[in-house]
Parts: sequence; C-alpha cells; structure tokens
Amino acid sequence: MKKYTTKKLEGRQVLDCIQEGTVIDHIPTGKTWEILGVLGLWDYAGTIAVLRNVESSRYGAKDIIKFDDVERDVSLVGLFSPKPASTAGEEGDAKGQITVSRIKGTKVIEKTWPSPVEKVKNVIRCKNPRCITSSEQEIDQVFSLAQPEPPVYRCRYCQADVHEWKINNPTNEKFGGK
Ligand SMILES: [Zn+2]
Repeated sequence: MKKYTTKKLEGRQVLDCIQEGTVIDHIPTGKTWEILGVLGLWDYAGTIAVLRNVESSRYGAKDIIKFDDVERDVSLVGLFSPKPASTAGEEGDAKGQITVSRIKGTKVIEKTWPSPVEKVKNVIRCKNPRCITSSEQEIDQVFSLAQPEPPVYRCRYCQADVHEWKINNPTNEKFGGK
C-alpha cells in the first residue's frame, strides 16, 4: 500500500497527503538543508517532500519536510528549534517550536516538540584551533549540552562552548559552505 497520495497540479504530480510517515513542521526558513543533512535524509530512498517558504500566519514563513517513514529518529531537529525548550508542549508550535508529527492511517498518532539533545557526535564542530579535534581529524567531535536555554554545547576535549552551529551537509559542500 502506498503511504501517500498525490494529485495533479498544473499538469504535474505533487505530493498531496502523507498517510503513513513523518511531518516536520514549523522549521525556520533556510534551516531545511541543514536538517536534511543532520537527519541523513539527503539521499533518502523513499518518498520525501520539502516545502520551502510556506506562508504561516504566526511567523510569516516556514519550511516543512514530509517523508514516508514513521519511525525514523529525528530527535536532532531539536538543534534547530528557534525557541527555548521550555516552551514545548501542547502549545509548543504556537510558541515557535519545530513540531514532529507521526502519521499512521492518515491520523496523527504522536506529536512532539524536540528540544536540543543531551549529546551530539560528529554533528557540531569545535571552533577552538588548539583543540585536539582540529588537528586530529579522525577523532570524533563529541559535545554535551552545557545549557539548555539558549542551547550551548561544550566540547568534550577542550571544554570550549559553541553557541551557534552550521551543520555540514552535501549542499554546503556543493555550494562551498562551511
Ligand atoms: Zn574542542
């Protein structure tokens, strides 16, 4: 059984409705490519739809990712939530959190508001030029959440704090980003 439906729009077949899968909604515009990279969705073999600059009454614009896997771990999207973790909850999306909806049989069976994860490995890079991870490329880049709001990650090796991060993904490399 297909996990989605499509419809014709101006002569082209487009994704209409996910019947079984995951919808990541309220993504700050422009963060979609990083999210696809960090979730390993860049070369996703199933059906996936990316909606950019969707009008949103609350934020002006947002991005949405839909794909046909209901179980894939997407907790790393918490790295991109624009608002503090404590605003998550029933009204989380109203307060600017990224939402993750799991859909089965066209019904939302679970809705979550991921916050920044406690530990990340090979996602964020240490910016300290004297850190061992800067000279020894084969060492894993391991960071722990030092502070949840706003999120700050601390390098396991040199204790340097990272307040902002840009996630490497195939598009960044392709377009010369860092
Ligand atoms: Zn470091």
